[in-house]
Amino acid sequence: QSFEDAGFPAGIMDVVRSSRYGAPSAIQAQAWPIALAGRDVVAIATTGSGKTLGYLLPALVQIQARGGDPALGPSALVLAPTRELAKQIQAEAHRFARAVVMPDSAGAQSRQQQRHRAHKQQHQHQPAAGSLRAVCLYGGASREEQLAALRTRPHLVIATPGRLLDFVEAGMIRLGQVAYLVLDEADRMLDMGFEPQIRDVVRALPPGRQTLFFSATWPAEVRAAAASFAASQRPVQI
Ligand code: AMP
Repeated sequence: QSFEDAGFPAGIMDVVRSSRYGAPSAIQAQAWPIALAGRDVVAIATTGSGKTLGYLLPALVQIQARGGDPALGPSALVLAPTRELAKQIQAEAHRFARAVVMPDSAGAQSRQQQRHRAHKQQHQHQPAAGSLRAVCLYGGASREEQLAALRTRPHLVIATPGRLLDFVEAGMIRLGQVAYLVLDEADRMLDMGFEPQIRDVVRALPPGRQTLFFSATWPAEVRAAAASFAASQRPVQI
């Protein structure tokens, strides 16, 4: 299977080509068609398997297809156990997100806002106005900077569960538009005791969302969590 078979839009394919990957990894080849079809995925995958792009590229496609209003909150959410992992995911997301044009987002801004953004872009290397925006939230760092990032009205939020819940409870982020949820390294999140926070976050999401559940291991607790969080539709297990 080749990258072309996945049917990603041109902007994403440009970044794929410039990354000089040989072929999709096994997890990517299996996850992409299912995720692009809007179905839930439960996947056993370790670091180095290419799992991140396995869920991120379909996320970007789904966000773009949906074209929701980012002022009402993100339309996709990735939960990860640690700040380090969240930042790595954000770096991957940013590489591709900047190549995904959101047709209505620039139009929603006033001329003045657009000028201001263009100015900021030149001086702070911000992504181009109108491209898909991804923001990363994690504990152990200043809330102020993350709040400022949230004010850019991201389409995609990558977060550790505790810090995200802080922002939800403070009314700083609304999750009612999230249609695509990823639990990455779910087994590690459970080991770290994040289950109550994940449960609270999931309660804030609309029903009918798509869920992608990734874990490196598959013990009973993880199976129970997968059944509980990725049960909105019959998940495809890979
Ligand atoms: P992950 O397992 O998601 O942490 O990815 C591990 C590394 O593999 C990352 O640096 C990715 O950029 C890279 N990668 C992702 N997909 C591919 C692919 N199809 N071929 C080669 N490298 C890839």
